[in-house]
Amino acid sequence: MDFRMTEEQRLLAGSVAAFVKAEIMPHEDLVERTGTVPDDLAEQIKRKAIAAGFYALNMPAEHGGGGLDAVERAVAEIEFGRASRALQMLCNRPAPILKACRGDQIETYLKPTIRGERFDCFALTEPGAGSDARAIVTRAVADGDDYVITGTKQFITNAMRADFIIVFAVTGVDQGPRGPSKRITAFLVDKASPGVSVAPLKCVSNRGLISTIVSLADVRVPKRNILGAEGQGFAMAKSWIFSGRVMLSANCVGLAERAMALAAAWANTRVAFGQPIGRFQGTSFKLADMATAIHAARLMVFDAALKMRDETLTQREAAQVNLFASEMVGRVTDEALQIHGGLGITEDLPLQRFWRDARVERIWEGTSEIHRDVIAKDVLREFAR
Ligand SMILES: Cc1cc2nc3c(=O)[nH]c(=O)nc-3n(C[C@H](O)[C@H](O)[C@H](O)COP(=O)(O)OP(=O)(O)OC[C@H]3O[C@@H](n4cnc5c(N)ncnc54)[C@H](O)[C@@H]3O)c2cc1C
Repeated sequence: MDFRMTEEQRLLAGSVAAFVKAEIMPHEDLVERTGTVPDDLAEQIKRKAIAAGFYALNMPAEHGGGGLDAVERAVAEIEFGRASRALQMLCNRPAPILKACRGDQIETYLKPTIRGERFDCFALTEPGAGSDARAIVTRAVADGDDYVITGTKQFITNAMRADFIIVFAVTGVDQGPRGPSKRITAFLVDKASPGVSVAPLKCVSNRGLISTIVSLADVRVPKRNILGAEGQGFAMAKSWIFSGRVMLSANCVGLAERAMALAAAWANTRVAFGQPIGRFQGTSFKLADMATAIHAARLMVFDAALKMRDETLTQREAAQVNLFASEMVGRVTDEALQIHGGLGITEDLPLQRFWRDARVERIWEGTSEIHRDVIAKDVLREFAR
């Protein structure tokens, strides 16, 4: 596949890159040191992203979002991916599932989120249900005009910052030809509702981007807050995860390119045994492998994004790009650190941060094992007689 950016896409990449360099990267050290993003800084980045047109750029233009197509989004996500996740996610890309908002939900949730007046988070995973998301046990029981939700969600990104939570809960059981299956429904839950509490989890990746445990104890939610239709939550979540896999892969390309640039510059200047370490094949071949893997991931990202745009992307392709890009960024950041020797492991340089941040990529949008499982099953199906 030969992907050439159009002039518009090149301009978009350039302007997102300039924004990231001017408005986000200067604050990375602060976030690393303190493990948090101060509220005034968060507000500043949000305001500047809105002014620059880079806020909620994955949302439909008709509701005030950026209205970018999948390829343009991938172009932008490569640039965002170079920077601290905690900071770049302040330019919120609201959960695409919010596009399912209907009626009053559009004015109450969707549009204010796109304008930066509200902030969402996505709560599917539970202590007993991660890869096997259908195993969730959070339940929602109908009671008059409301549902009453009880359960615990785990690893929920940005719930501290959010003011509403997209909660997935079991609302019943269907009897199908293959046995019983849970009816899973998505709800828009205001975080201020009585019974909602949020506690932070400490993770080594992406300091300042806080993962949380969200507890829901008899939380009353009006029936009108069902997102989409009752029982459709799981199908909607799956379709969101699909596009998330491609865009996070684009982020991986950006981070890997930043790490490789530092490694190559260091290989040109650091002298050992009388010559720059880049002249040793042990170093230069690392750079060759990095550049090749990044190039391959880039092509896979744009191929997947083009197919997303054309609505032909398959589950296997989404798994393949995320598997390859997440493992690629792990290898590249590890080798970039290695090229810096002892300095690479110090907190004076960002290499160790890139390496820590890359680690989560093989887990959070589907683990490498789940991706391989999806791909392998499809390959076996393809060649079954
Ligand atoms: C930092 C972070 C942020 C996150 N943010 C969110 C969020 O905002 N919202 C949200 O809903 N979720 C979020 N998640 C959850 C994420 O989606 C899950 O962590 C992921 O799906 C894996 O689930 P698990 O952690 O429960 O691992 P498990 O599913 O328990 O897996 C444990 C191990 O078993 C392996 N395994 C499981 N099943 C199979 C199988 N069939 N074949 C082979 N191996 C298998 C896995 O690959 C893994 O190695 C986040 C996770 C992290 C780490």
